[in-house]
Amino acid sequence: MDIIERFLKYVSYETTSNEESETTPSSDKEIVLLKELVKEMKDLGLNAFYKGGFAYGDIKSDSNKSDTIFLMAHVDTSPDASGKDVKPRIVHFDGSPIKLNENRALDPKVFESMCYHLNHDLIVTDGTTLLGGDDKAGVAIILDTVEKILKRGNYPNIKVCFSPDEEIGRGTKGIDLEYIKKDTDKIYAYTVDGGEIMGFSYENFNAASAKVIAEGVSIHPSIGKNKLINAMEVIAEFHDHLPKCRPENTEGREGFIHLVGMKGLVERAEYVYILRSFEKDELESFKNAFLESKNIINKKYNKDLITVEIRDSYKNMKEVIDKHPYTVDIVHEVYKEMNIPCVDWPIRGGTDGATLSHMGLPCPNLGTGGDNFHGVYEYLDIDEMKTMVQIITKIMDKLE
Ligand SMILES: [Zn+2]
Repeated sequence: MDIIERFLKYVSYETTSNEESETTPSSDKEIVLLKELVKEMKDLGLNAFYKGGFAYGDIKSDSNKSDTIFLMAHVDTSPDASGKDVKPRIVHFDGSPIKLNENRALDPKVFESMCYHLNHDLIVTDGTTLLGGDDKAGVAIILDTVEKILKRGNYPNIKVCFSPDEEIGRGTKGIDLEYIKKDTDKIYAYTVDGGEIMGFSYENFNAASAKVIAEGVSIHPSIGKNKLINAMEVIAEFHDHLPKCRPENTEGREGFIHLVGMKGLVERAEYVYILRSFEKDELESFKNAFLESKNIINKKYNKDLITVEIRDSYKNMKEVIDKHPYTVDIVHEVYKEMNIPCVDWPIRGGTDGATLSHMGLPCPNLGTGGDNFHGVYEYLDIDEMKTMVQIITKIMDKLE
């Protein structure tokens, strides 16, 4: 199978993850593809098995190398758009809009990052489903690389993991880290998941969430003077005291506070927020702002009307990566030698690699050549996907 056949095969499986489900994987449909991947890995000559929602594979170096490369991609697709009956189509992008169907087109004036893919072959959707390049492109890249290097010979120790439920934040739940680290010396671990291949990511947000509750005093408005306290008014006042950095007015390395949910009655109101920052200190300052705002309001009313609960979610992988810079240095070296532009690309979110890093396996992310994820405008750059195979091969060739 060439890499395109591989990719087209994988997107024919519906693997949408399901937030409502409690099981791992969240959908039985993911298991079907995971087990197929086990079979494919066995056919390639890896020791492969399915365990608890994950497909694993490994093979020892044929040339007594002690380093190990670990590659991971997720098989699920985002529940934000349908992943059923995906009808992919290959088109050459000459700079003009690509018609997906009667009503929808991929227009480079709207999707500016298409400029990176000029004169490349793209795989696009029919405008009714997502493509599933996120992250079946990663799966195809990993297995194509492994297939080629096993055929060629002189490879390092290789370990592979295909995971479920990344899109619903559970991509490392139940992962067998012991197996991954077993019999290894130095591991070069990477997730292969993301956008343009020039983007290399070893930094992501630190994340927390906050639940704010306001207690009011309800009484008939006709007799409310000096007695009624409207929890919804109080919580709105609280909100007003928070720093004004929002996702809609921040970008790049700027952090934000984002209101994601609210419910309210006169008697009780609740706001839910997410807090994000690349800097630990800034995240702490956001948390402090919640406590300060609470104190201001409670002081004003001379009553503990507001309570704040803050919870940490995930952490920036950079603090771990910085202690193991070899995983980053080797990638920079390879891009430079291959004369491919490389931009260190902080992820304005979390990754499975971030979780793995904090579990003790430093794990930056390599791109796949995909774009416009989680929707009908998703597309994948075939040329970039093939270049990533060469990049990973070159990383492997540098291992000792
Ligand atoms: Zn992904």
